[in-house]
Amino acid sequence: MPKINLRERIRQGVFLLDGAMGTELFTRGIEAGTCNDYLNIESPDIVLDIHNAYLQAGSDAVLTNTFGANKYALARHGLADNVVEINTTGAQIARRAAGKDKYVLGDIGPSGDFLEPLGNIKPEELKDVFAKQAKALLEGSVDGFIIESMTALDEIAIAIEAVKSVSSGLPVFASMAYGMGSNGFRTMMGVDVESAISKAVSLGVDAIGFNCGTAMLDDYLVLAKRYVSVTRALEKKRATSCELRVTIFAEPNAGKPELIDGRAVYKVSPENFAAAVEKIHSLGVNIIGGCCGTSPAHIAAVNKKLQISNV
Ligand SMILES: [Zn+2]
Repeated sequence: MPKINLRERIRQGVFLLDGAMGTELFTRGIEAGTCNDYLNIESPDIVLDIHNAYLQAGSDAVLTNTFGANKYALARHGLADNVVEINTTGAQIARRAAGKDKYVLGDIGPSGDFLEPLGNIKPEELKDVFAKQAKALLEGSVDGFIIESMTALDEIAIAIEAVKSVSSGLPVFASMAYGMGSNGFRTMMGVDVESAISKAVSLGVDAIGFNCGTAMLDDYLVLAKRYVSVTRALEKKRATSCELRVTIFAEPNAGKPELIDGRAVYKVSPENFAAAVEKIHSLGVNIIGGCCGTSPAHIAAVNKKLQISNV
């Protein structure tokens, strides 16, 4: 485990996450439709290689290759019984790459299904599923957890509660994916920034953020401004004698996806990505990474731009 605990570390200036896993797997010949999470078992060397590439690019933390490793998402690949194995191994691979000096965040993505009454999932059942994933990640030695790409308020709340119920007090980051519509930023399920932030903060997360989505690169800057102002206003309202400071994180895509040969392609160059991220950082967003379409070259460009000294 790294010497400075993660909760302290994220308050000390810039903290650089990694970029996309899926995009990197694709460039290494993994075909679309493969269960990426199962590669932790089947091809651990490829996953390790990607973690190493990000660490070499300057990432302070790598995210485990477990975004779709909850029971519901794995069931779509006939792997519902492999939750523990896939998550624990995924955390171990990331730890092997990160060693003692860098951080490992256990990555948790959405169920891909809906809670009642929209869908068939019961809240208690969903909580058990996320708790089981988090426990298996903890078993493989993570420094904290990151809940990403959420679009429903009830699901992100359940995920946060589930992770916190088994996390042994480790930090929890949580983020939602937005698109820009006529009503401003909304998730696919219609959640706005205020609702997302106040819910996550009330549940005691260490960092709140936005990732992925369908925004243009410039939209992420507007979204970051919104995140900062809503969070600071909330802090003011809730501030009592004890300090309440929530760290904000951003993991933009490399631009808006374009569909080419049935595949989403992201075209923003590392330099343009880094320039946008620098603006986001200047607003007070200290935890930065990349989502879809970002590569080690994007992270290296951000690292250079922000002149992060890797202590
Ligand atoms: Zn993404």
